[in-house]
Amino acid sequence: MPDYDAIIIGAGAAGLHCAAFAAATGKRVLVLDHAKQTGKKILISGGGRCNFTNLYAAPENYLSDNPHFCKSALARYTQWDFIDLVSRYGIAYHEKTLGQLFCDDSAKQIVNMLVSECTNVGAEISLRTEIIGVDYQQGQYRINTSKGEFRSTNLVVACGGLSMPKLGATPLGYQLAEQFGHSITPVRAALVPFTLHDQDKQAFAELSGVSIPVTASANDGSFHEAMLFTHRGVSGPAMLQISSYWQPGEALTVNLLPSDDISEAIKQGQQQQPKAQLGSLLQQYFPKRLVQALADYWQWPLQQRLADCSNELINSVHDNLHQWQLKPNGTEGYRTAEVTLGGVNVNEISSKTMESTLQSGLYFIGEVMDVTGWLGGYNFQWAWASGYAAGTALAEQ
Ligand code: FAD
Repeated sequence: MPDYDAIIIGAGAAGLHCAAFAAATGKRVLVLDHAKQTGKKILISGGGRCNFTNLYAAPENYLSDNPHFCKSALARYTQWDFIDLVSRYGIAYHEKTLGQLFCDDSAKQIVNMLVSECTNVGAEISLRTEIIGVDYQQGQYRINTSKGEFRSTNLVVACGGLSMPKLGATPLGYQLAEQFGHSITPVRAALVPFTLHDQDKQAFAELSGVSIPVTASANDGSFHEAMLFTHRGVSGPAMLQISSYWQPGEALTVNLLPSDDISEAIKQGQQQQPKAQLGSLLQQYFPKRLVQALADYWQWPLQQRLADCSNELINSVHDNLHQWQLKPNGTEGYRTAEVTLGGVNVNEISSKTMESTLQSGLYFIGEVMDVTGWLGGYNFQWAWASGYAAGTALAEQ
């Protein structure tokens, strides 16, 4: 007889949530993690306040090779279910922007809540436990660890993606998936700042810290949020969001003035204040040092009186500002990425239970799978929803 009904590798968001549901019917559940602490990413998320879900979370907010896969789990465990749990623990929260819910106090409350949910139903958590190897024999998973061998009927892979190795991210989840015959859709860093080519980096280096609202677009994605110039490139929510849609080598389309039409503004200025200079008109929309940097970059004659601006100049300022083709050099990579795009191929996993369709008793939940949410609480909602789907399936066995 195996030691456990289910062993979950990863005491992060998905693993802890899954354990609480799996053990609720008396099943013997063990969560293993090599880290010293549970939920390390939760602790630092949202600047220490954890953006734990989003009021508007829906399948459209997720990227996957199979966009239908996430629908069932998200419908069965919604943002309202998690809000209900948070409320039951008396954790105060607020909406910051765009439906993003944060703790008023500390992300630690979310981790403590998840751990309490586990211990209340008798799920065990073993930290500082290195996974040496896993094999499957006679209907049992044998997990060889630095604390000895554990045997279980079911194995849940909840060890996340590759982002932020210094927080304990490793490729173990993908390795286990491949060991049991699963394919991995190509992975890359997402929700990540862009780096720029040297010439662009130098042109905007002085702007580090300047933030403006933009619309950033690439492929099927378009986001109207803030863009932040950094000393290495561009960041801010608009850039993090669009990084999930961008492909290396491509240009982003950035509209630096989404709320106005600059050609209309210049033409109106020509009527109303013909002696005003182009530079002073642009300063009505942008900080002075941004106007100067953009003018140097695109060679705009800032001293030109509006009356003397040719249609050709107006059109080029319009195209520069509204359809900037910004070609990043790359991204800052997994070191700073919030998530990993791609992962275990969801076409080989049941969307109802998260169980492998190739290997009996093997489950995948959370970020290790090819389901990636937008910035704004969507990734945790996926961890909760997929954890619930697997946890309830295990509990009902
Ligand atoms: P994780 O939470 O990463 O948990 C995986 C666990 O597996 C970890 O505890 C890890 O130690 C363990 N593990 C990994 N490898 C091994 C191994 N070899 N052996 C044993 N254990 C192992 N999402 C949001 O929705 N809102 C936010 O505010 C937010 N902020 C973020 C901020 C930062 C800085 C980062 C990096 C991410 C943020 N995210 C946010 C994304 C979110 O944290 C993840 O999508 C989510 O934690 C994924 O849950 P998971 O359980 O799949 O993986």
